[in-house]
Amino acid sequence: MKKNSILLIGTNNKGKLKEIRQLLPKFIKTKSTSNFKLKSPKENGSTFEENSLIKSKFFSKKTKLRCLADDSGLEIDLLNKMPGIYSARWGGKKNNFYNAIRKVYKELNKKDENWKTKKIKARFICVLSISLLNKKIALVKGKVEGFISSEPKGKNGFGYDPIFIPKKYKKTFGEMSPLKKYKIDHRYKAFKKIKKFL
Ligand code: IMP
Repeated sequence: MKKNSILLIGTNNKGKLKEIRQLLPKFIKTKSTSNFKLKSPKENGSTFEENSLIKSKFFSKKTKLRCLADDSGLEIDLLNKMPGIYSARWGGKKNNFYNAIRKVYKELNKKDENWKTKKIKARFICVLSISLLNKKIALVKGKVEGFISSEPKGKNGFGYDPIFIPKKYKKTFGEMSPLKKYKIDHRYKAFKKIKKFL
């Protein structure tokens, strides 16, 4: 990418925006969707890949800028990989993360009332895409494996961070310092793959 060309970060999620800005090389000039007061498109794809491209193409067409978008979510094996692409929608109309976490616990209790005594496998997925107008420039995926905590812990991060314990760690993402989380999570892994397209 040329040093002075602008990259639009196609998300209205403040948690993601902050994390993506931290991960991008400092020489890249960015703008966010809030600079253009753009509403997000309907995510009616059936995979993370489709939804990521829907966002990067939509925001690029609106602004004529090259756009980087992320579609991400949490897959829980016991819940047949839900909430998956519905991760944001489990928070209800206002994307309330507290409600989303409550729903995870409700669904786990329905599946198995003893789930807290077991290791509940889960993973965060992130699919990053870059588009220019209707053209796909890059599409990559990153994931981080882990387990669901028996109770929410920690106030850092956003979304499902308080209930996700990455493999080989004892703390939830919500308990880790943001800089530590950014270095091991799904977005970081996807970023490593997309860097060469920036
Ligand atoms: P979307 O990609 O905008 O459809 O939303 C993804 C949703 O997945 C977010 O609203 C969060 O609920 C969840 N999510 C994605 N990445 C993370 C993360 O790094 N930590 C916690 N929750 C996340």
